[in-house]
Amino acid sequence: MTAPLPSHKAMVPFVSVKNMMRLVHDVGIESMLRDLCDRIEDDFRRWDAFDKTPRVASHSRDGVIELMPTSDGTIYACKYVNGHPRNTADGLQTVTAFGLLAEVATGYPVLLAEMTLLTALRTAATSAMAARHLAPKGAQVMALIGNGAQAEFQALAMKAVCGIDTLRLYDIDPGATEKTLRNLAGSGLTLVACASAQAATEGAGIITTCTADKQFATILTDNMVGAGVHINAIGGDCPGKTELHRDILLRADTFVEYPPQTWIEGEIQQMTRDYPITELRHVITGAAPGRRSDSQITLFDSVGFAIEDFSALVYLRARIAGTDFYEDFDLIADPDDPRDLFGMLQRAR
Ligand code: NAD
Repeated sequence: MTAPLPSHKAMVPFVSVKNMMRLVHDVGIESMLRDLCDRIEDDFRRWDAFDKTPRVASHSRDGVIELMPTSDGTIYACKYVNGHPRNTADGLQTVTAFGLLAEVATGYPVLLAEMTLLTALRTAATSAMAARHLAPKGAQVMALIGNGAQAEFQALAMKAVCGIDTLRLYDIDPGATEKTLRNLAGSGLTLVACASAQAATEGAGIITTCTADKQFATILTDNMVGAGVHINAIGGDCPGKTELHRDILLRADTFVEYPPQTWIEGEIQQMTRDYPITELRHVITGAAPGRRSDSQITLFDSVGFAIEDFSALVYLRARIAGTDFYEDFDLIADPDDPRDLFGMLQRAR
């Protein structure tokens, strides 16, 4: 699926926000979410091919800036992403991102892209990938707690991949829920606004938490989680930033992306290292069981891992080949004589 590499003299293809939006509409968002889900799953199956490291985080009082690199030996990917929960009060987003792909053989970049939208899409696709292995069979109702920027993407991925047909919404800010109701009207989902997180969880087979707060928050308490439920916890993704009461983890079977990163950033940072976790990739390959019974509580402790961004960027690169959904970006100085960088500068005078 990877497009032929451009010659080294070529400009670097750049996918702007505008072109990303054109592409999503051209492909169709649900179709794109399904494609991304399959691409990420394919890459999770070949896990050992990748270089892996917990993301490199720079923490500050109000947020975090992170770099997320990985490589499969042929292609290298890296994403810049931030998480600043207080940003929305100033009209800024909590999460923004951009990323690149490079050719390992030469180190030359082959794609530069906006990734604020692409992160929302790949995070939702990853949630759906986990849910299709872990959620109770036939689950049609999802509680969605936290109705911010990620919310609609999470909802549509669960609809497209897992067949969710009803969404029970709650946010501490009713304006966020109203926005989500507006955006999802006409999506085919039955939408129910709820007065509390507890009310939202009633009758839900899947509970998704995607709140943003830079603290150990308790979005879900143990009494809200009935037997058989699948929890998709995406908002706790930083040291000191969690969403679930620890008692839920004591009752749940917990599934993670890359343990060395999840121990630092996920819900499991509340637990000691002898707490049992299962790597999602092992469930995908059949090496470990996923859901074993109707009464089991499963928890996907999502933090977001670099391989998901790799998959999304490689998918994007293949999708834009032969289209006008990108611009050529003059990013890499390219003297005719590779050692005459200074001469190139002089001649440009
Ligand atoms: P956002 O700021 O746009 O939305 C967060 C929403 O949560 C807001 O509407 C806010 O009012 C609501 N909220 C905060 N506290 C709440 C509470 N106690 N109860 C109910 N609602 C509450 O943020 P976003 O871009 O939607 O991201 C949501 C979270 O997901 C962030 O924490 C972000 O870091 C995380 N995230 C995780 C991944 C991943 O791969 N796991 C990827 C992207 C974002």
